[in-house]
Amino acid sequence: MEDCIFCKIINKEIPAEIVSEDEDILAFKDVNPIAPVHFLIIPKKHIESVADLEESEELLAGKMVVKAKKLAEKVDISKDGYRLLFRVGAHGGQEVPHMHLHLIGGSKMVEDIYPLPEKI
Ligand code: AMP
Ligand code: ZN
Repeated sequence: MEDCIFCKIINKEIPAEIVSEDEDILAFKDVNPIAPVHFLIIPKKHIESVADLEESEELLAGKMVVKAKKLAEKVDISKDGYRLLFRVGAHGGQEVPHMHLHLIGGSKMVEDIYPLPEKI
């Protein structure tokens, strides 16, 4: 995808602090961290969001979660716990339209990072 910022990171067209890379998945530091550890785990394949995942991609989605778990162990936040977050689409607050899993940790989350829906 030509205009996708995360595809550009995958293609090394723009810089990022990469923490893990394999043939399917890239992980890098969020440029605007909300906690001491804040990584983004993305598939190298351009998939817009979880809402666009095909059943045939379930292994890829699983690999993203396992990658997050391993990274959490690597940076030693596993014992204390952490948060994994997929935002999906407009109501989910997703800003970058390339599916990504946030790994957030290193301090206790004292409040939820979601506002409540304005209307029910
Ligand atoms: P979301 O709101 O779930 O779509 O999250 C997008 C995340 O991408 C935000 O936390 C941004 O700080 C992060 N982000 C945007 N551009 C970059 C970039 N070039 N490098 C690293 N993280 C980025
Ligand atoms: Zn992309």
